[in-house]
Amino acid sequence: MSKIKSKYFMCGFDGMDFPVLKSNIVHFPNLGKLWKRSCRGTMYSKAKITGISWTSIYTGVHKEKHGIRDMWGRKTDKSLDFVSTKQKYIWDYFNKHGLTTAVFNMPVTHPLRSVSGWLVSGFPAPTNSKIAFPDSIADDLPPDYLVDWINSCMKDRDLHPQVWIKETFDLTTFLEDLERMELARVETFIDLCKKHPTDTHFFQSTVIDRVLHIQGITNNNDVRVYRIADKIIKRIFKEFEPERFQIVSDHGGWDKQHTHTATWLTAGVSIKPGEILPPGTVKTNEVDVLPTALFWMGFAPPAGDPFDGEIFYDAFITDLNEEEQKKIEDQLRALGYLD
Ligand SMILES: [Zn+2]
Repeated sequence: MSKIKSKYFMCGFDGMDFPVLKSNIVHFPNLGKLWKRSCRGTMYSKAKITGISWTSIYTGVHKEKHGIRDMWGRKTDKSLDFVSTKQKYIWDYFNKHGLTTAVFNMPVTHPLRSVSGWLVSGFPAPTNSKIAFPDSIADDLPPDYLVDWINSCMKDRDLHPQVWIKETFDLTTFLEDLERMELARVETFIDLCKKHPTDTHFFQSTVIDRVLHIQGITNNNDVRVYRIADKIIKRIFKEFEPERFQIVSDHGGWDKQHTHTATWLTAGVSIKPGEILPPGTVKTNEVDVLPTALFWMGFAPPAGDPFDGEIFYDAFITDLNEEEQKKIEDQLRALGYLD
């Protein structure tokens, strides 16, 4: 069977820490294969808070502009939410350029907004609320589908699994449950993509962040936890053939703390494999993801330079002869990237 084509595939892992990934990469066959052909490195997460950082990844701007300041992107006195922010999201730009998109389980995508393609909200969304756009997509979700594991946090804080599970779980059972749940989620995504084809794809797993907040990620469990991410990558590459593939995280994590050392890993068309600069000499930031993706897709930047982020040119092949170089510069000029 032929694979599902994707012009751009973003695979999010909440809390994936680049230094942790890097130091253990030999244990992960599928991530390892991707690693070799990717441009990768620490992405400095300025906010290192889930709701804020994911929204900065999606919109290319910091919280002052997108207005989402709540850690889970809920609407409060001081924070907007997904439906009330005026910002355009990465998939809105793709839609504008005629590409449809599938947005699945990306954090802070509730309450629903319309999209050309389809969207299933990620963490967090209240139970018994609409989580799928258009409505017909909801009919194709398994009857027991949970928006994410912590699906009731906005209704009843006492039900927050971070509270009760601390007393009841042992690590092995916990990781087995988590793996089963996350792999089932990938299968749901794959089924939906087959049934409702789109040009671009967004998928996210919270597996790492869940362990981080409950058990802590340490030398004792890091390989076991990240191995679940490796299995997710295996499933994705078995089913999809992405022209451009990107792993991003909203922040890193170690012990029980969020860290600034998020993950940036891109592979595919025009990408120059190799490692980019580590923190301290940080070049990438969560707001750079969107402008870089638009450039990568060959789309002209939006009028008025709406982004806080910049294009991460270092990720792209520059080892060209004069003629090739000139051709690319002409294209960039035509798109408005060069004067
Ligand atoms: Zn997070």
